[in-house]
Amino acid sequence: MKQYRSLAEIQTDLQSHAISVKQLVEAYLQRVEEKKHLNAFLEVFASEALENAEQIDAKLAENKAGGLAGMVIGLKDNICYKGHKVSASSKILEGFESLYSATVVERLLAEDAIIIGRLNCDEFAMGSSNENSAFGNVLNPLNEKKVPGGSSGGSATAVAAGLCLATLGSDTGGSIRQPASFCGLVGLKPTYGRVSRYGLIAYASSFDQIGTFTHTIEDASLLLEIMAGKDEYDSTLSSEEVPKYSKALSFSKKTNIAYYKSYVEHEGLDPEIKKRFFEIIEKLKQQGHSVTEHDFPFLDYLVPAYYVLTTAEASSNLARYDGIHYGYRSNNATDLNTTYTKSRSEGFGPEVKRRIMLGTYVLSAGYYDAYYTQAQKVRRILRDKTNEVLSTNDFILLPTTPHTAFDIGQQVADPIKMYLEDIYTVQANLTGLPAISLPLGKHSNNMPFGLQLMGKSFCETEMFSFAKNLINL
Ligand code: GLN
Repeated sequence: MKQYRSLAEIQTDLQSHAISVKQLVEAYLQRVEEKKHLNAFLEVFASEALENAEQIDAKLAENKAGGLAGMVIGLKDNICYKGHKVSASSKILEGFESLYSATVVERLLAEDAIIIGRLNCDEFAMGSSNENSAFGNVLNPLNEKKVPGGSSGGSATAVAAGLCLATLGSDTGGSIRQPASFCGLVGLKPTYGRVSRYGLIAYASSFDQIGTFTHTIEDASLLLEIMAGKDEYDSTLSSEEVPKYSKALSFSKKTNIAYYKSYVEHEGLDPEIKKRFFEIIEKLKQQGHSVTEHDFPFLDYLVPAYYVLTTAEASSNLARYDGIHYGYRSNNATDLNTTYTKSRSEGFGPEVKRRIMLGTYVLSAGYYDAYYTQAQKVRRILRDKTNEVLSTNDFILLPTTPHTAFDIGQQVADPIKMYLEDIYTVQANLTGLPAISLPLGKHSNNMPFGLQLMGKSFCETEMFSFAKNLINL
C-alpha cells in the first residue's frame, strides 16, 4: 500500500474504492509488525481495529460515515480508552485498565476514527528522549541510532514511520513539539483550556494539554476542531466557540511577526538551525510581512521556573499511586506504611522519583516561598512579557529545539543537560499559549528540525493559516 500522508488522500481513495478502511488498517498493522523493533507501540488493538474498520466500511457504503472515516490514529499511553490498558509507560500502573475514555477519545470515535494502539512514552510524560519509559526506549525511524524525542516519542515515531496516519500526544513542556521537530512532523500544542484533559493521566495539570502529530496542517486542524471545546468534566476548559479550523486555512493578510534576539543568539543553538531561521525571516519579509526583533531577557528563567512548578504539581498528582488504588503493589510490604513506600519505590522509575522529590522539596514548609511562590511570580512575569510582545504582533517565531535528534544514551547521565533540551518549548506551556512546530529544515547531518510558531490565546485559526503559508515557503 502507498504511504499516505493525509486524510484527504485516504478519503479520495476510499471514495473511488481504490482501498477500503479494512485494507488500510491491515496495511498499517502489517507495517507495525515490520517495524516492531522501533518499540513505538506498547500494545496494538489489532482485532478491534479490524472490526471497527469493517463497520466503518459499511457506513461508508451507506454514506453515513463520520468526518474521520479512514483516520487511523494511535494514542500516547497516558490517554485513557475504556476497557484498554493504560500505563503512562510506568510499572506502577501495571495491569491497570481504563474505566472510562478520555473526552478526546470519545470525540474521535464519534467521527469514526480508528484507534490502532497505545504508544510508548517517557514515564508519566517526564523526559525529552523517551529513554525514561519502563518499557524501553523508542528509536527514531529516520536514524535508528537517535532518539525520537520525548516525552511523546512513540507518537512521533509511529507517524514518521508510517505506522498510522496521526497520533495524539500530550505537551506539558514540549513533549509534542520537540519530538515532532526530531522526526520531521507537524506537532501541535493547543491553547491551555482548548482541549479537555479529562482522561489524560496528569503530570502537571496547569501545563498539560493534549495535541497531535500529523504530516499536514490540514489534519492537525481537523483533529483539533473535533477534539476541542467545552466539556463538563474539565472545569479549566474555555467555553470559547470552536471555529472550523480546517475550513479556514487560506491565508492572505499581512502579518506582524516577532522573534527574540536572545533566543537565536543562544550559544546552544545549532548554527544551521539559526541560518534556516533567518532564511525564513527573509522570505517572510519578501512576502511583505513585518518581522521585528525583540528583547526577552528571561530566557534563563524559563527552564528553572518550569521545573519548579511542574515537579511541584507532579508530586501532588502522583501521590495517588500508593500501591492500593491502582496497578502495582509490592510483595515485600509488611504493613500499610511499607505498602506505600515499597510499592512506590519499586513502581516508579528514577526520573519520576527525582521529580517527586524535587517537587516535594519545593513545596515543603521551609522552602515554599523561596521556590514555589517565587516560580509562580516568575511565571506571571513571563506571561505578561510574552503577551506584551503579542499585543503588537500576531506571532512569535522561535526555534523548536536547539539541535537535531541526539544519539540514544548521549544525555541520560546529565539531567540538567536533558532539562535544557526544553529551552524553546516551555514558554508556550508557562504562558498557556498555542504553539505549533513545523518541519521547516533539514540539517547537513540528514536529520530534520522544526521551527515553532507561538500565537495569541485561542488564535489557532490564524496560527494554522499562517503555518500553512510558512510551510510552503
Ligand atoms: N521534556 C519536558 C519534561 O521532561 C516536557 C515533558 C512534557 O511535555 N510532557 O518535562
